Amino acid sequence: MTLPVKDGLNSGTVSKKNPARSLRGIPAVEKVLQALGSADFPRPVVVNCVRQELAQLRSELNIPDFDETMDRVRKALDRLRLARIQPVINGTGIIVHTNLGRAPLGPEVVRTLSMAASEYNNLEYDLSTGERGARAQYVEECLALLCEGEAAAVVNNCAAALVLILRHFTSGDRPEVIISRGELVQIGGGFRIPEILEASGARLREVGTTNKTSLKDYERAIGASTGLILKVHRSNFFMDGFVESPATENLSELARNKNVPFVEDLGSGAMVATESAPGVEHEPTPAEILGRGVDLVCFSGDKLLGGPQAGIIAGKANLVRALKQEPFFRALRCDKLILAAMQATAELYLARPRESGNRSVPVVNMMQESKDTLRARAEKLIEVLGGLPAEFQIGEGKAQLGGGTLPRSIISSVTLDMIPSELSLQKLSERLRRGIPPVIGYVSGKRFKLDLRTIFPEQDPTLITRIRESFGAPGR
Ligand SMILES: *Cc1c(COP(=O)(O)O)cnc(C)c1O
Repeated sequence: MTLPVKDGLNSGTVSKKNPARSLRGIPAVEKVLQALGSADFPRPVVVNCVRQELAQLRSELNIPDFDETMDRVRKALDRLRLARIQPVINGTGIIVHTNLGRAPLGPEVVRTLSMAASEYNNLEYDLSTGERGARAQYVEECLALLCEGEAAAVVNNCAAALVLILRHFTSGDRPEVIISRGELVQIGGGFRIPEILEASGARLREVGTTNKTSLKDYERAIGASTGLILKVHRSNFFMDGFVESPATENLSELARNKNVPFVEDLGSGAMVATESAPGVEHEPTPAEILGRGVDLVCFSGDKLLGGPQAGIIAGKANLVRALKQEPFFRALRCDKLILAAMQATAELYLARPRESGNRSVPVVNMMQESKDTLRARAEKLIEVLGGLPAEFQIGEGKAQLGGGTLPRSIISSVTLDMIPSELSLQKLSERLRRGIPPVIGYVSGKRFKLDLRTIFPEQDPTLITRIRESFGAPGR
């Protein structure tokens, strides 16, 4: 590795007179950089990492020898390598895995996305007049069609959609939002409905109890300061037993009679009949909910819809228009990449019959993939992996939609099970996780499992290489 001293990052730390050793036995940054050779990071990142590690050593009383110092630096660089955003192979069986980036996009969507990314486009330019045009007009029309609503708008995510809705409807002299106590939920990390409500400046008016809320409860709560009735879909948990909540149709009618807007936060926004996959319950679609008389729905773009991260709002045209005119909307709007990916995703759905599912959307495809297909892949993998110091078996998997969607639904799946004879399960899992690309699975019943439902068939050859490597065998 060559070491230009011009970048300024070295000055002050590298002693020109004694580059090898500085005070107190800690090697100089430059010497460590030389010993590292070339690293797969921008140079300032490496220099900074080395410097931090040396500073840490300096603060410790026990000064290690050079080899140990190098070892510490290499470990620090390895932590950086693992912290980089990179593709991983998802063997968890959780289809919409929030920690693993939620919905992967299919090739059609990626093509559109890539074009929007690398070339100029007509994002806000009207090609028919040659003048400034409306941003996102076409994609909004597509989404409105999909949701069977009069209009739609796209913002950064569903949380943003909620904040926008709450701010708009509860500003001024109608600050209250009515919500059932059974729906004051937490969705994922750091997303609590009561906190979002508060952050939006809305005043929370809780009605009913955790398990029971009646139409009368809502009716009694509506008053001169009511700005909005909000219903939150229980997307990440379910309640059973002594439970009651009014039918959406009845709540819509009440809201209409009292002239109060009624919004439902759906969370996941499935566009296909989810129950067509065995083991999966029915998830109400935005169109279905709007059909029950709700004024607006909002949902995420990257859950069951299987698109990019976004929050979609659909429903009454006058309300959508008003939301888009909020000055705050500007702070929540999506960029061209998201809009392009969303346009392509919406078109994929519109181009196909509604009930048939959609094989071009990976999330939907994974959900509907047959166990026979998965089993055939598992058999092939096991055949190729023979000879490694482990027992390989075809196992039972319980795939889930995840991402806080359909908590009750378990999709029976097929796993590749590994019972290593020389490695611990923990060691195997660590090696798979720390390689390139990382492979993420889980331990259950004294075996390491990889659910094939969430692994793309195209990834099987890479998976084989990574498994072989993890057992210390050459990749192929
Ligand atoms: C997931 C979820 C959200 C948050 O969606 P993001 O797009 O992650 O902001 C909000 N409400 C419900 C009901 C959800 O399930």
